Amino acid sequence: MNNIFAIFNLHILHMQLSVLHYEIIIVSLWLIFCVMLTQLSSDEQYMLLALHEAELAAAEGEVPVGCVVVCNNRVVGRGHNLTETLQDVTAHAEIQAITAAAETLGAKYLVDCCMYVTVEPCVMCAGAIGWSQIRRLVYGASDEKRGYKSYAPRALHPKCEVVEGVLEDKCRELMKTFFSQHR
Ligand SMILES: [Zn+2]
Repeated sequence: MNNIFAIFNLHILHMQLSVLHYEIIIVSLWLIFCVMLTQLSSDEQYMLLALHEAELAAAEGEVPVGCVVVCNNRVVGRGHNLTETLQDVTAHAEIQAITAAAETLGAKYLVDCCMYVTVEPCVMCAGAIGWSQIRRLVYGASDEKRGYKSYAPRALHPKCEVVEGVLEDKCRELMKTFFSQHR
């Protein structure tokens, strides 16, 4: 009789372990899915902040390019194009954001940072991004005429990961609308 109970208990234990395994697998898959979703949507969320900066530029009569710099899930710098306001051809959104980020962090190198910019950076900005050692660059619309990729594809830090095309349509539309109204 004791043997039967022992076998029965073992069977119950086995079933409990099986359920536990099943639950661990489900939770693991859910966590992986959540991480993927967070990664996917966080790029878009930060690009929306960059787009907001671009809209501020447009409202000020500036070419609508916006940028944010993110470090450990925190926006440490933001900026938009100010070339007309400052009468300064170097006052691009990326330069504003890099300067702001360095000031926030109290450090000139932005190694742990990711930059989100609505349009592919120009050669000057790509150089600045390279100097800042930013390790991830995410941009929306590509710029065949002025973008760094055509002229200086190696301007960024060699370890900088580049992601292009995030919210591309929105970024491009903003530029199109601006130029159709202003030029
Ligand atoms: Zn630039």
